[in-house]
Amino acid sequence: MFAFTSIEQFHAQLQEGKNTCLQAVEHYLHRIDNSRHLNAFIEVFAEEALAKAKQLDAARSSGKKMGRLHGVVIGLKDVICYKDHRVSGASGILENFISLYSATAVERLLAEEGIIIGRLNCDEFAMGSSNEHSAYGKVLNAIDTSRVPGGSSGGSAVAVQAGLCMVSLGSDTGGSVRQPVDFCGIIGLKPVYGRISRHGLIAYASSFDQIGILGNTIPDIALLLEIMAGPDEYDSTVSREKVPVCHFVPDPGKKIRFAWFKEALEHPGLDPEIALAIKNKIRHLQEEGHEVATVEFNLLDYIVPAYYVLTTAEASSNLSRYDGIKYGYRTPKYGIGLTELYEYTRSEGFGKEVKRRIMLGTFVLSAGYYDAYFTRAQKVRQLLLERTLAIFKNYDFIILPVSPVTAFKTGEKMTDTIAMYLAEIYTVMANLVGCPAVSIPLFRHSDGMPYGLQIIANRFYVISCVYGYKRRRPQNSR
Ligand code: GLN
Repeated sequence: MFAFTSIEQFHAQLQEGKNTCLQAVEHYLHRIDNSRHLNAFIEVFAEEALAKAKQLDAARSSGKKMGRLHGVVIGLKDVICYKDHRVSGASGILENFISLYSATAVERLLAEEGIIIGRLNCDEFAMGSSNEHSAYGKVLNAIDTSRVPGGSSGGSAVAVQAGLCMVSLGSDTGGSVRQPVDFCGIIGLKPVYGRISRHGLIAYASSFDQIGILGNTIPDIALLLEIMAGPDEYDSTVSREKVPVCHFVPDPGKKIRFAWFKEALEHPGLDPEIALAIKNKIRHLQEEGHEVATVEFNLLDYIVPAYYVLTTAEASSNLSRYDGIKYGYRTPKYGIGLTELYEYTRSEGFGKEVKRRIMLGTFVLSAGYYDAYFTRAQKVRQLLLERTLAIFKNYDFIILPVSPVTAFKTGEKMTDTIAMYLAEIYTVMANLVGCPAVSIPLFRHSDGMPYGLQIIANRFYVISCVYGYKRRRPQNSR
């Protein structure tokens, strides 16, 4: 019986001959088959994954040194390109589009002998918070299938949550990795902007987008980060900052400085049970000798509006390439002019939420409104950055909730777009300022759903120890 707890343990088992890559892939294919109702995968690369596993087993038996991701079974959000495989952004407009190249991140995973098992469902073009806006239908939360898994990387979260792969990649523009992992009870990291190349990541809002990692343990996530991070000639926004190697040496004696915002934990929209659990956690940290202080932060109400002005503006420009001419879907109507061809193609190919964002973005960029919306939102972004950097002069981390609520029921927020947008109040900050942020599943709500804590660090911050690191229980014991 195959059981996965961590990459390190999986590799130890391979070396002791207790497991094979083939057994691992067969195990996941079997589980994927039994979990079709969750709708996490859009496509499974079964034959290919089996062939790769056999090849790796043969290489290992012949004494070849193992790659750092030897046989690690990985799922890709359907916004990340993998050469000669379909990628659609879960959109009708890219149906049947085949990637001409692999994302740099994917190339680096493959170079370390990772096995890509399939592409994962998500909100169309990564726009959404519930994975209900997908051309391939909604994804269900494996803990309670009447609830959403969060979004937009809902398929990536459920794939790890339900044990359908070892780790997965998502993308995080405003919380799309951290919020679904919060709803699903796993760990998710949005790296600092510029850490992982965006080459081969379908663009939503380019100054916000980052590839993120979803998994069961911090060391697994750190390993993938280390492998994917670093300069890339195809993305000039990737930093040349050194990629640190993570060592997990718990050092309970190390004192850490945490900041938290009263305005965030006493926000009327925050579920009181979540607020209480986080406040208790803060107290525990204090009791353990860490410095935990509340910092004044009066910008909370501005960050969601600024986020939506800026991201929709960038999206309206990024998504203009889907015109029915170069690639992707084209309207079957014939005998029409060029403008009509664009109009029909885009009206038929895009879903409702994506159209809403394109229109909003076009509006905020239009001549008469540019300064009133776009320029002002840029100013909010700058102010937020200055405040955040000032906080990091005195603190190592900022503590925030991930989401004001636990996983909600499917359909519950579909008719209330504003409510859906406001639920991102705690996650968009890290993207606006480009800081890294992690969502860690620590709590369980009385409604039965998991939720966690968000920790934000300064850009390219490196801490010399990991505080209180503990292994999570194996996937199979669920
Ligand atoms: N839910 C947010 C949005 O719809 C975040 C999306 C994301 O991070 N990709 O914009």
